[in-house]
Amino acid sequence: MNDNIQEGSCVCSVCKEEKDNSHFSFYQDRITKRGEKAGYRLRVNTNCRECTSKNNKVVQRLKKIHLSSKPSPNSPCPCCHRITLKFEIDHDHKTEEFRGWICKDCNVGLGKLGDSKEGLQNAIMYLETPKPLAIQNNGFFKI
Ligand SMILES: [Zn+2]
Ligand SMILES: [Zn+2]
Repeated sequence: MNDNIQEGSCVCSVCKEEKDNSHFSFYQDRITKRGEKAGYRLRVNTNCRECTSKNNKVVQRLKKIHLSSKPSPNSPCPCCHRITLKFEIDHDHKTEEFRGWICKDCNVGLGKLGDSKEGLQNAIMYLETPKPLAIQNNGFFKI
C-alpha cells in the first residue's frame, strides 16, 4: 500500500512533529503524464495518521454525547445563519471541547482561519485595513 508514497518526510500541522511520509495520507492512484504512478499528498492539510485518527475519535465521542442537540435539517447555521441541510460537529481542537453544530462551510472556514478567535480577528483586521488606491482601482471600486 505504501509503494506509491514519495520518499521523504513532512511536518504534521497538528503535532508539529516531522515524520516519515508513510505517516501521511497520499493519493494512491495518481498517474504521471508518462503513465507512472505518482504519490501526492492526499489532502491540503498535513495531518499525520496518528493525529487524524485521534481527531476522528474525539469527533465520534462528541457526536454521541451531543447528538440530541443536533439541529434538524433546514435550520439556520448558528455561525453564518444560512439555512443548512447537514450539520457538522464543531469542537475546539486544542481543548477537545464541543462548541456546537454548524454548516460545513463554517466548519472548514473556522479551521482554515486557525480555529481560534485570534485567527478570525486577524482576518477582520485584514479586511478593515485600508487598501492602497492602486489595488482598489484594479478591483471593485470605481474612481
Ligand atoms: Zn501529528
Ligand atoms: Zn454556517
